[in-house]
Amino acid sequence: MARFPRTSVARMPSEPVSPSLETETVHGGHPVDPVTGAIVPPIHPSTTYARDSDYTLIGDYLYGRHGLPNYRPVEELASTLDGGAGALLFGSGLAGFAAVVETVAPGGRVVAPRVMYYGAQQWLRRLDSLGRIELTLFDQRRPGALDDAATEEADLVWIETPVNPTWDVIDIASAARGAHDAGARLAVDSTAAPLTTQPIALGADLTFHSATKFYNGHSDVGGGIVVTRETDQHWEEIMSVRKHQGGVIGPFEAWLLLRGMRTLYLRVDRASESALALARHFEADPRVDAVLYPGLESHPGHQVAKSQMKRGFGAMLSIRVAGGATVARAVATSTRVFVPATSLGGVESLIEHRAAVEPPESVVPDDLLRLSIGIEPVGDLIADLDMALDAST
Ligand code: PLP
Repeated sequence: MARFPRTSVARMPSEPVSPSLETETVHGGHPVDPVTGAIVPPIHPSTTYARDSDYTLIGDYLYGRHGLPNYRPVEELASTLDGGAGALLFGSGLAGFAAVVETVAPGGRVVAPRVMYYGAQQWLRRLDSLGRIELTLFDQRRPGALDDAATEEADLVWIETPVNPTWDVIDIASAARGAHDAGARLAVDSTAAPLTTQPIALGADLTFHSATKFYNGHSDVGGGIVVTRETDQHWEEIMSVRKHQGGVIGPFEAWLLLRGMRTLYLRVDRASESALALARHFEADPRVDAVLYPGLESHPGHQVAKSQMKRGFGAMLSIRVAGGATVARAVATSTRVFVPATSLGGVESLIEHRAAVEPPESVVPDDLLRLSIGIEPVGDLIADLDMALDAST
């Protein structure tokens, strides 16, 4: 909270204001500019920064690839939101992911779930096939599977919860114990559960977000955020990887991202409420074989979700439609409100037939439709899906 802007709004000295994290987020964690009074930060497009007559840098910046002024409020806010000691902004989620994986020693072991964001898993599989790392996948649906996979020494345990796109829930505290027993760091991809899950408080060493999704929230910026529990030697290495690999973001994109983050609470709360209502509505629908959503009491991971998701169950769910892939494809192309497109976390709701975009080795069922719930009135979303199911079954 120390970074929250202390403006000159008149108040009695005896009445200290201790704004909530929500308020800090709405204000973008950014102080009012003391010179101009601007309440929105400027965009600094400069890629290089000048020195004074002693050849000392005038400000805190040297060169664009090393970090820019527009990164700072985003990184500070992201770190605060996840209870970390620091955060780094990247040009995409996968750039941040790759930077973390890059710190694994050659031949080191990485443990990850069998179902996870397929792009990240594909990268791990590639590194494994090149002999760069040794990859062990565990069945995220089986309790104890991670412990079994982590009996041997490991470098990095990378989990996602809820898992995209089946929304299985992984117990973070237990994963942290397993990872640490194996000598590994635990990194948690929290893209699908921002705000509601606090991986660092549950024992994770790193929290990751594809900022392309809920953090930005408007489907118009690509970015990634890695938050650390400690600013230790390992964190220095991740910083060095970003600087040398150059997976950075532009100043305008960083500025847009901060603008999106200011409404993060509002968007996430609204979308999570709608996701729960929609999941409940279709749970017993005969046109749907299963609704996969951790907020449903019938979900196998509901109890763990209840204990580690403190602000709703997120805005992501999937449905498995009766009738298989053909019907699923028909539903995805019959909606009028849900847009048939990949990605997630935007203000607009999206529907996606995952089998169509996942690689051939994917274990995701071909009757699965992934729904990213936006901020439209939930009645419109339910009516739209209802209509599309009717038209397709
Ligand atoms: N993690 C999850 C859970 C995702 O869904 C995605 C992208 O869809 C990523 C990571 C990768 O992020 P990006 O597309 O920003 O590189």
